[in-house]
Amino acid sequence: MEQRGTAGGRQRTRAVHAGGLSHPSAGPDASLGSMTTPVYRTTGFTFDTAEQMAETAAGHGERFLYSRYDNPSLHEAEQKLAALEGAGAGADVGAVVFSSGMAAVTAALMAGLSAGDHFIAQAELYGGTTGLIRRVLRRFGVDVTYVEAAALGGPGLDQRLDSAASPATRAVYLETPANPTLRIVDIEAVARTARARGWRLLVDNTFASPINQRPLALGADVVIHSATKYLAGHSDLTAGFVVTQGEMLDKARELRIDLGGCLDASVAWLLARSMKTLALRIAAQNDNAMAVAGCLERHPKVARVHYPGLASHPGHETARRQMSGFGGMVSFEMADEQVAPRVIAALRLIRLAPTLGGVETTASVPALSSHVKLTPDERRAAGIGDGLIRLSVGVEDTADIIEDLEQALG
Ligand code: PLP
Repeated sequence: MEQRGTAGGRQRTRAVHAGGLSHPSAGPDASLGSMTTPVYRTTGFTFDTAEQMAETAAGHGERFLYSRYDNPSLHEAEQKLAALEGAGAGADVGAVVFSSGMAAVTAALMAGLSAGDHFIAQAELYGGTTGLIRRVLRRFGVDVTYVEAAALGGPGLDQRLDSAASPATRAVYLETPANPTLRIVDIEAVARTARARGWRLLVDNTFASPINQRPLALGADVVIHSATKYLAGHSDLTAGFVVTQGEMLDKARELRIDLGGCLDASVAWLLARSMKTLALRIAAQNDNAMAVAGCLERHPKVARVHYPGLASHPGHETARRQMSGFGGMVSFEMADEQVAPRVIAALRLIRLAPTLGGVETTASVPALSSHVKLTPDERRAAGIGDGLIRLSVGVEDTADIIEDLEQALG
């Protein structure tokens, strides 16, 4: 352990111990010996002198000023994720927590791009991210070219990225595994090409979590999370993170202040509390999802299963190299597209819900939920057919999840 209550150890240890009562402002609570970091329910902090306050407002020193700027309850969650995502990526990795995953996606893109810039994005992205690019970023003069995951690796990658690029290209944006297709992109290969051209690489790591994949150690510059999913893990809060270093970290912090997408202290406390069990939940979800994917692959009514842990997945070899577990998300296509809504309606234990990453198994039809606002062309480009069912596999007993799926499939 480097410093009590901060980082050190391995991933399970970091999840439990990183952050916490390590900030100088946490002194009085530390003196009471509290096992946990209290919630700092305050809009701002008091000072003895105007000079002290001015110094803090100017960004000097270790004190807190105003809770939209920063708050000790946010620090614990940030330090935990920085320790988990930063493992093997350098000591100065920092995390900035936001009020939602979309606030984090927005801040990451705005930190790296300005009017007149262009970036390359993976074609298969979460529908909200595609919507943000189309409805908002383009209005602010940021242009995009989409490239399918299948083209983002292997021989000829440099040429394919160069033909998608322009002199204004500044970044590449990936989501691997992608929601809900589970497509895989070789992060290290894209990072090599991007670095050689001076482009930043941003990776949405929501589906993998830092327990299964650490993009910064693979050469990415920025990691984004919808913490609403695995990091929180109990389907009871909304939050997001940007994890990065240097100038991008300063910009992400400034954007939280300027855009106002700060997280409430109580929610930050709940998030940090939940992250302590992240590694345990992910291990159980990896195992359950592998069993579910194998069972679906053998089912006669299922045409195709998308799970990076299956040898049949086109990204399996890349996933084996860059992931230490294949995650809790499985999607599959019914042989008869029309029956997908009926199959999920027949589930008893598994809940029909648009959310994912919780301890409970949930199912959805992405064409009717997370990706309903996309145009049919955008849905096709993202690989989402009407018969695609997405499962977020929880931590229940494996046999109970499989029995429910089998009875619903009939
Ligand atoms: N990124 C991915 C991969 C997602 O699946 C989601 C939400 O489903 C988001 C970002 C947005 O996160 P939030 O709903 O917390 O704003």
